[in-house]
Amino acid sequence: MIPYRVVLVASAAMLRLLGPLQAQRTRSAATTAPPARSAPITGIRYDVRFDSATAQRRTIQVAMSFDVGGGKDPVLLSVPEWTPGAYEISGFARWVSRFSASAGDRPLSWDKADPDTWRVRTAGPGRVTVQFEYLADTLDNAMAWSRPDFLLFNGTNLFPYAEGRGFDFPATVSVKTQPDWLVATGMKPAREPLTWTETNYHDLVDMPFFIGRFDYDSMTVDGKVTRLASYPTGILKGDTRTTFWDQIAKAIPTMAAVFQETPWSTYTVMTIFDSSYTGGSALEHQSSHVGIYAPMMIGTPLLASITAHEIFHAWNVKRLRPADMVPYEYARPEPTPWLWVSEGITDYYADLALVRGKIVDSTIFMGLTAEKIQTVAEAPPTALQDASISTWIHPTDGTGYLYYPKGSLAGLLLDIAIRDASDNRHSLDDVMRDLYRTTYKRGRGFTATDWWGAVSRAAGGRSFAEFDARYVDGREPYPYDATLKLAGLRLAADTMREPRLGLAGAPDSAGVRVTAVQPGGAAETAGVRMGDILVALGDVAITDPNFGPAYRARFKDAEGQDFSIKVRRGADTLSLTAKVRLIEQVNAHVELDAGASPKAIKVRSGILTGTQTGER
Ligand SMILES: [Zn+2]
Repeated sequence: MIPYRVVLVASAAMLRLLGPLQAQRTRSAATTAPPARSAPITGIRYDVRFDSATAQRRTIQVAMSFDVGGGKDPVLLSVPEWTPGAYEISGFARWVSRFSASAGDRPLSWDKADPDTWRVRTAGPGRVTVQFEYLADTLDNAMAWSRPDFLLFNGTNLFPYAEGRGFDFPATVSVKTQPDWLVATGMKPAREPLTWTETNYHDLVDMPFFIGRFDYDSMTVDGKVTRLASYPTGILKGDTRTTFWDQIAKAIPTMAAVFQETPWSTYTVMTIFDSSYTGGSALEHQSSHVGIYAPMMIGTPLLASITAHEIFHAWNVKRLRPADMVPYEYARPEPTPWLWVSEGITDYYADLALVRGKIVDSTIFMGLTAEKIQTVAEAPPTALQDASISTWIHPTDGTGYLYYPKGSLAGLLLDIAIRDASDNRHSLDDVMRDLYRTTYKRGRGFTATDWWGAVSRAAGGRSFAEFDARYVDGREPYPYDATLKLAGLRLAADTMREPRLGLAGAPDSAGVRVTAVQPGGAAETAGVRMGDILVALGDVAITDPNFGPAYRARFKDAEGQDFSIKVRRGADTLSLTAKVRLIEQVNAHVELDAGASPKAIKVRSGILTGTQTGER
């Protein structure tokens, strides 16, 4: 998953990652009822109907049918509490309505056994069908969302399973829709048209669906069929589509080189662009990912970076995974201290994919690294392990997603340490490949012993116990100066207090529109709302989205002083009173070290190009 919001107030021309969106969601409590066991069911089939009629009601018609043996025990059908990759309890049962159960023409009685479980009383052996509607109204890559001509859904949302019967059962999915609408999914096609199958529930619910009108094409990348589905039609066309395809084609081989295999038979990049969405968020699967983006991200390196991040997950987390999440459980959270590896190191490899694939140059790579250093410096000191565990509760202090940038930087520091210790003969790539082969390929998840063992092996036996204690389990500041020097890089950082509004704006036809308002910031306190058009900040007229430098220069010596924020809201022009707030900012730059040793230059070049000494 990557949940970054994009903020355009920064003076840099490059889009800036200013930290994660705090998802505002209703959480249902995880169920703690005693383990229950359903009567066994077989021959499971899910029929999904979404057409222009159901689209009007934003609903999906779902029918699940299965065979029962005729015993006395009821069938217990549960829908998941969460979608793997989106580490939060969502309780998808809350979008289910009009549930019914029948055997042939005979209605069956049912009730709820727990908040996400239906208890169906069967009557003798035979085929049972349960039907319900699912409300597809949430624009979120872990959920279901519809428009009059389009549907996104995840299997976790609407495919019930028999509780307590394990997840090793085959199932078929069939889709009924408009004759001229398309269906995109990573599921394996079955014999009947518009029918797909998987051999177990984990794979079944890891294959999101697009149904409706969208642009859909494919090309061969790294020897495998790769598809691109984008909604709405026409938004990613011509040059921007060609550029995006080019970025995908350049990024994948750099990542496949790390593991020395491309593990999918086909891969589907599924994208939704919607102007109501601020920034971008994407969710990984084993052979696809779903990204939801603000249209202004089209053509940016940030879109390429998120795409690379999600594709790297096909190896790291969908296959190579912490033991705490093997197997996935769907009725309860699975916290792990290892999301800094699953997410942070994935994000390090997204940056590497951009530079190794020559999508961006090394200056941008150093800029992305500096942004991460800055984000970590501005957050409360937080251990990687603690941030990983806490993400499930969405901490309010801004550290809930800190394992992304901080874990990415841990990846860089470990990569440098390994390359330095081995004179660039080994790297973090060896660690990832070693773990992939020794854990995932042997059917298990990785543990602390596996991880630190692989790191130590790659570094010629060096112990990383102190690194773990100080920087992974501990909260000490990273040793940037000493470590970056080993890779011919140096960090220049200064701290300053600058006026900050706490809002993000983006240009549209009406002017510079407010696209995000930071809770408790100067703009929010003054009454600025999302959707307002910015007209002036005091005597600084807002004519282009890059107004930050002019605002900061005008008010840098005016802490606490009142000034007016003039905005247009609908037909009204409002003058809101704000107070100048100076916020501590860290400005970090990563530069080439002019005095780098030949060894450090070799390490730097190894990182940027993905090569090790002694490789062909
Ligand atoms: Zn991710």
